[in-house]
Amino acid sequence: MQKIAVVGAGLMGHGIAQIFALQGFSVGLTDVSAKALDAAVDNVRSNLALLADQGIIEKRSAGPAVARIATTTDMSRAVEGADFVVEAVIENLEIKQNIFRELDAICPENVIMATNTSVISITEIAARAQHKSRVVGTHFWNPPYLIPLVEVVRGDHTADHVMDRTIDILKSVGKHPVRVNKDVPGFVGNRLQHALWREAISIVEHGIADAATVDECVKFGFGLRLPILGPMENSDLVGTDLTLAIHDYLLKYLEHSPDASALLKEIVARGDLGFKSGRGFQQWSAEDIAETHNRLKTYLLKVTSQPKL
Ligand code: NAD
Repeated sequence: MQKIAVVGAGLMGHGIAQIFALQGFSVGLTDVSAKALDAAVDNVRSNLALLADQGIIEKRSAGPAVARIATTTDMSRAVEGADFVVEAVIENLEIKQNIFRELDAICPENVIMATNTSVISITEIAARAQHKSRVVGTHFWNPPYLIPLVEVVRGDHTADHVMDRTIDILKSVGKHPVRVNKDVPGFVGNRLQHALWREAISIVEHGIADAATVDECVKFGFGLRLPILGPMENSDLVGTDLTLAIHDYLLKYLEHSPDASALLKEIVARGDLGFKSGRGFQQWSAEDIAETHNRLKTYLLKVTSQPKL
């Protein structure tokens, strides 16, 4: 395979294009907005400069990687000759369904069509395509060039060989793909993440601890173990019998509301939108925000080992 295409050149699309371009693929990158395409190339250029500064890639590989990304607002031109297409447009079912109908009509049958949706059903996104067996979920995490995980999600009609081939392609560009066997809302990563967030918000709402304390319990406590011991490994480590004893006692006290928390709704209604407005569960100055983004990027660069290119 030599060419892939990415549809949607925003936050995720430009990072996905970058991953493949850096590994030698030609990339057709398309968006309805020419401005978004220009910004995407600028962003790839500055991401690669950062990777080069950190010694993660060779400085001389950055220019050719950027040059391998060809941008166009014409989707059919972007996907021409591509064997693998990743859709990363805004999270809107109708728009995604129409894109997959169109892609299905223009791409030869052997082309795999992947969607980077965060939560929408892969099966529903494929609904207007005729060849549904080649539609698969590839849920990258932000920033996609630094977070290794990609959840490869099987829709109701996804063929086995499409799952296998998608996993091979992602491995070939240094990602860490995992298989998600059922097309359920939130797939695996977001189900886990939001189960934790629901409990965290509930603890604050009920005055058990404030927001900063909740985060300290994670960052200075069990969060430190998580890169080494996932919850399933940890359950085995402490003993499944202890896990059962704790669950028999504790689960009934945990938050299990199917609705978003009243506190969260109140904060949003007040316009306290977090980094966007300078206040969410906590207060954020412009310096705090810049420093947090910076610390996250520096940390991710340190812990994600990438082969030197
Ligand atoms: P974004 O808003 O940054 O980018 C979306 C891009 O899609 C925009 O540039 C827009 O112009 C373009 N677009 C809209 N309609 C289009 C069309 N019909 N054809 C071509 N381009 C079109 O969004 P994002 O954060 O990059 O998210 C993209 C997808 O990835 C969404 O499905 C989102 O849920 C998913 N996702 C996002 C994150 C995240 O952290 N932001 C993480 C994982 C998955």
